[in-house]
Amino acid sequence: MANGLLEQRRAQMFPKLTSAQLARLERQGTRMQTQAGEILVELGAPPRGVFVVAAGSIEALAPPSVTQAASGYELLFLLSPGDFTGEMSTLRGTPALVRVRVREAGTVLLIDAEQLRRIVQNDAELSELFMRAFILRRMSVIESGHSEVLLLGSDHSADTLRLREFLTRNARPYVNIDIEHDADAQALLERFHVRGEDVPVVVCRGAELLKNPSNAEVAECLGINAPAADERVHDLLIIGAGPAGLLLSHLLHLRGIESVVLEARSRGEIESTIRAGVLEQGTMDLLNEAGLGARMQVEGAVHHGFELAFEGQRRRIALTELTGHSITVYAQHEVIKDLVAARVAADGALKFKGGSGTVTTIAHA
Ligand SMILES: Cc1cc2nc3c(=O)[nH]c(=O)nc-3n(C[C@H](O)[C@H](O)[C@H](O)COP(=O)(O)OP(=O)(O)OC[C@H]3O[C@@H](n4cnc5c(N)ncnc54)[C@H](O)[C@@H]3O)c2cc1C
Repeated sequence: MANGLLEQRRAQMFPKLTSAQLARLERQGTRMQTQAGEILVELGAPPRGVFVVAAGSIEALAPPSVTQAASGYELLFLLSPGDFTGEMSTLRGTPALVRVRVREAGTVLLIDAEQLRRIVQNDAELSELFMRAFILRRMSVIESGHSEVLLLGSDHSADTLRLREFLTRNARPYVNIDIEHDADAQALLERFHVRGEDVPVVVCRGAELLKNPSNAEVAECLGINAPAADERVHDLLIIGAGPAGLLLSHLLHLRGIESVVLEARSRGEIESTIRAGVLEQGTMDLLNEAGLGARMQVEGAVHHGFELAFEGQRRRIALTELTGHSITVYAQHEVIKDLVAARVAADGALKFKGGSGTVTTIAHA
């Protein structure tokens, strides 16, 4: 298909790999036979990596246009031997913007995401070639007007500006229609039975219609928060975000060891379950030493002793006098809140029930 950027920058956007470059990639990738019609990457799915065409051909297909009701997938690019697939989402691991389908059966070399990252780090020539091609291809998709997202809004609406910023920040191409200036907008509103007060409206993947959605709802629809978003490798897996698991995760972090904490309950549940209330000296010292005691020091009630009653007689146990230690009454769910906040602030990996992300692989050392 014709588009301005593609015409001007075809050579950089689709550089043919030289035999020397192909030989270097061959050492990293996996050869695969392909069948005509086989889908190598599905629109919206996490990219599998880069496919280098060795024989046959591959087509990159743009999604049905959100502005044309009856349109189907449209050919964006046709790749022949020496060409490779991929654009910016391939490196970031975010959902693919195009469908990649085999046109003529042949052979491809699959460079998976991890191998691609290694190549980008270690091979300056291929790194530059891939990066330039990926950026230009993303720009070309945006320029072509093919997008999974149609945003119907107004320059005067704060929510429209919020959604535009969100889509731009996440590098998601979108068709923007200003309902106050675009003659087609009224027809579109009628087509989707949208009332004025529902604007801004996001039409996602030509099907799902979201009325004044939150950023999280749009992210959910586009798969932006898909598990692939957190591809970090952690040294340790901790099961249970109780005080023990969270504190351990934090202490390890302070020593440079990163962990992922898996919790069967939601964050809201663990932060509201009433349990313990008394913290002994050792726990208080540990929380303070780990930099987690600020709120406890302000809100906790320090006690230097307690009373026991025997046959109507009250006996004071003078803790501090007897042991040099005190106790603090500070609810366990408040400690949990402080621990979760500290892990979140340190960009620690916490996986709660109902949250995004899963642990995909556990390697044996
Ligand atoms: C009523 C009550 C009062 C208490 N009062 C005090 C007190 O005053 N002072 C005091 O020091 N102690 C007190 N305790 C004890 C204190 O609450 C516990 O010692 C503390 O909760 C233990 O912490 P933990 O992290 O080991 O386990 P937990 O707090 O039990 O946390 C374990 C976490 O793991 C999660 N989990 C379990 N299985 C899985 C799984 N398979 N996958 C993913 N997640 C999982 C659970 O949902 C839970 O969130 C009290 C306990 C109770 C019940």
